[in-house]
Amino acid sequence: MYDVVVIGSGAAGYAAAIYCVRYKLKTLVIGNQEGGQTALAHDVENYPGFESIKGPELMQRFKAHAEKFGTEMKADEVTEIIRNEPNSFTLKLGLGEDIETRSIIIAVGTKRRVLNVPGEKELDGKGITYCTTCDGFFFRNKVVAVIGGGDSAATGALYLADICPKVYLLVRGDAMRAEPIWIQKLKERDNIEILYGTAVKEFHGENKLEKVELNNGKLLEDVEGAFIEIGYIPNTTLFDSFDLEKDSHGFLNVKEDQSTKVPGMFAAGDITNQSNHFHQIATAIGEGSVAANAVFTYLSGQEHKGA
Ligand code: NDP
Repeated sequence: MYDVVVIGSGAAGYAAAIYCVRYKLKTLVIGNQEGGQTALAHDVENYPGFESIKGPELMQRFKAHAEKFGTEMKADEVTEIIRNEPNSFTLKLGLGEDIETRSIIIAVGTKRRVLNVPGEKELDGKGITYCTTCDGFFFRNKVVAVIGGGDSAATGALYLADICPKVYLLVRGDAMRAEPIWIQKLKERDNIEILYGTAVKEFHGENKLEKVELNNGKLLEDVEGAFIEIGYIPNTTLFDSFDLEKDSHGFLNVKEDQSTKVPGMFAAGDITNQSNHFHQIATAIGEGSVAANAVFTYLSGQEHKGA
């Protein structure tokens, strides 16, 4: 029987685990995607203490830190959660194991949003990708397009501009919502062309991407790679049977201490709408540590708070 199982191995999950093991709770982290979305970030320049660090390296440091203090890790997927009366849970794992725990911290984050335009599904993996950091290098020396206007699109376009002769950045509105420092860097690059008010109507190609048709009728005929970086949707299906409270976008509503309405079930990181809905590594680890503190109080009946 674990004291706490953290479901999700991203920034929030690792931070929660570091605090839980230091509270001397028997702690397990279960996750299939080591490092979560941060492990897909090319450059991270806003995590205090590191002026610039690659996402995967930062996440390896988080993981090693959690393990050093005694966190157990399992590379697997939770497929079902059963609540046992009076106060424990059974987790069924994809590889067949059952895990018993007294509490849960949900830190499963989000998954990538898709455009839902003709040609997108057919050309997925044949020129269309959802991860610039993972796949960018395959498109070196080619003309590419990035779709989106947030930090993912901005940092993705900057990375691609280092290895590609030309990068189109397609922004559907008349402004980007990326951090101003990224927008400034984009404008400084001669080989990035930002097209505002521009959406993809259709992707064309037989066995590989050949053309991108835009909403204004224009065709981008030189593009061989399209990187869709249009944000994320929360991974809440695993918890559907608990009917947890969600906002209109599907993110979990949690209380100040990251607890949900189910006793013993807490949530942290991008899956919640806590921290003013500001999904950052820094806020994820804040929520993860608050959740761990609340788990400690829930299990021990003791409070551990500053003055
Ligand atoms: P965001 O939700 O911040 O931005 C999504 C962007 O995609 C918006 O510009 C949105 O347009 C656009 N978009 C959404 N749907 C469509 C569509 N159907 N067609 C065209 N465009 C669309 O997502 P991000 O992935 O950029 O970032 C998620 C979080 O991760 C943020 O909190 C961000 O700060 C963080 N992050 C930080 C990084 C770093 O610091 N290194 C790197 C990457 C992410 P509109 O603006 O019109 O709604």
